[in-house]
Amino acid sequence: MLQAVSAPAIQQSRQVEQLLCGQATSDGAGVKLTRVLSQSLHERLDPFLMLDAFGTDNPDDYIAGFPNHPHRGFETVTYMIAGRMLHRDNAGHEGLLENGGVQWMTAGRGIVHSEIPQQEAGRMEGFQLWLNLPAHDKMREPWYRDFKAEELPRFSTGAGIDITLIAGRSHGVTGAVERATTEPLFLDIHLDAGTQFSQLLPATCNAFVYVYRGRIEIGSTPVETQQMAILDNAAEHDGVILRALSDARVLLLAGQPLREPIVQYGPFVMNSEAEIRQALEDFRRGSLA
Ligand code: MN
Repeated sequence: MLQAVSAPAIQQSRQVEQLLCGQATSDGAGVKLTRVLSQSLHERLDPFLMLDAFGTDNPDDYIAGFPNHPHRGFETVTYMIAGRMLHRDNAGHEGLLENGGVQWMTAGRGIVHSEIPQQEAGRMEGFQLWLNLPAHDKMREPWYRDFKAEELPRFSTGAGIDITLIAGRSHGVTGAVERATTEPLFLDIHLDAGTQFSQLLPATCNAFVYVYRGRIEIGSTPVETQQMAILDNAAEHDGVILRALSDARVLLLAGQPLREPIVQYGPFVMNSEAEIRQALEDFRRGSLA
């Protein structure tokens, strides 16, 4: 039984500022994926750096996985809808991610890890989000935690509405992870056709939705499967209302911008070129982490 909560009254919903389709690409050892949020949106969607969606029934698209690689300066959040992926890192963490589970990894000063599928057939589907760290936290100690699906807080605001709260606070419920400064909100919203979901959002936070099943409407703008909608930040808009035009599944993400310089070089995201050079040097010397 889901925890039932009441929906807040939104005075005026945010509207869709821009609709985007992700770019097909590959990463790791040839894993095919869709880069929904790419580098060109770093400023607009600060503190979010990247969102990749992967979903395939063809093992050739995922089987090689992501062999050992480093990260520094941000956090990765992997949400696995279907399939099994094993994480191993240089700090001795090992975790199997599967069936609706979440892995939250704060790379901080450095982590070297691998992400390898644990199946040779069947569906692999999920998301990886990159969340920036404020300058004062980029060199903090790494942190890692796995959450099984049943450990993730869930609630409902009515019949046919089912929300999983991965991060932040929503409708009086606290998510699996909370972070100061960026205050990320990460919801997976399942809506039956004809239902709607409302979320209060401060105008200062940057927010977007990604529809991964079905179609929804925000204001009078339809958002289709595999479309990302960037939501406006107008001061008079106190939240967002999502209406399901069919049975739909939607990620809603929001966070407070850091407004700090962003310099990315592959898996390193720092505030200056000098810090990137240092990260590369530390990695080459084996002293990244
Ligand atoms: Mn990685």
